[in-house]
Amino acid sequence: MTDDNGPRAWVCLSFDFDAMSSWIFRDMDSPTPLSRGEYGARVGVPRVLETLDRFEAKATFFVPGHSADTWPALVAEMARRGHELGNHGYMHEVPNTLDADTERAVIRRGSDAIERAAGVRPRGFRSPSWDLSPNSLDILRDQGFVYDSSLMGDDFSLYRCRAGDVAHKDRAYTFGQETDLIEMPVHWILDDAPYFQYSYQTRTGLTPASQVLEIWQDEFDFMYDRVPGGVFTLTMHPQIIGRGHRILMLERLLRHMRARAGVRFATQLEVAEWWLQQQPRH
Ligand SMILES: [Zn+2]
Repeated sequence: MTDDNGPRAWVCLSFDFDAMSSWIFRDMDSPTPLSRGEYGARVGVPRVLETLDRFEAKATFFVPGHSADTWPALVAEMARRGHELGNHGYMHEVPNTLDADTERAVIRRGSDAIERAAGVRPRGFRSPSWDLSPNSLDILRDQGFVYDSSLMGDDFSLYRCRAGDVAHKDRAYTFGQETDLIEMPVHWILDDAPYFQYSYQTRTGLTPASQVLEIWQDEFDFMYDRVPGGVFTLTMHPQIIGRGHRILMLERLLRHMRARAGVRFATQLEVAEWWLQQQPRH
């Protein structure tokens, strides 16, 4: 145990810097979708970095290896400003579509690319599309990751990932053993993409930012009042949140959080390491 009992509320701002990789992985590699990814690098990331500086908040950027190889100076700049870099695959591969050897290779390739660009090796992982394979958690432990941030088994509290769970079709679920890998849970509610990622096919994704602010602010207020010491993990994408009215909404949210006592902004790795120190040894 440390002397630090922790703040009333943690806030982890996270940004998935998918750039072009998520479009290429989905075979949407014609010029217009690619330009949506490029926008994230040219406009989104600089705007996000400026907002983070303005609020003196350190954040976590989950960076596919392809983004690090394509925009190495930008990724180095994220690290230079004190933000954490996390692994997000190489070409935004959805883990549950990969065999174990391929998954192991793309995660390693992603870490190698980030290390080449910024000189740091990621300790946290976020699954593209939040769809882990049955092998993912073992691979992350083998490759020395401290935490995963892809599961939804809690909202504002960290927990240990288990190994060896079995889902039977004809009887009760079998829970495996807890491991040293920490889960920092996420949810679509606290993600900008479902609200704002416009799809021409479904005509969805142009939600007014004021509605999203209301949801995010109420989630935060609930946590602040009823889950002391909770961790508010918000997932955003520079190519989505980088539009002007959405940046203004994000800044309104940050002002709202900053106005409450005992709110600490931190990288996900800082919170994961703090949480580990608080846990009694097994
Ligand atoms: Zn992503």
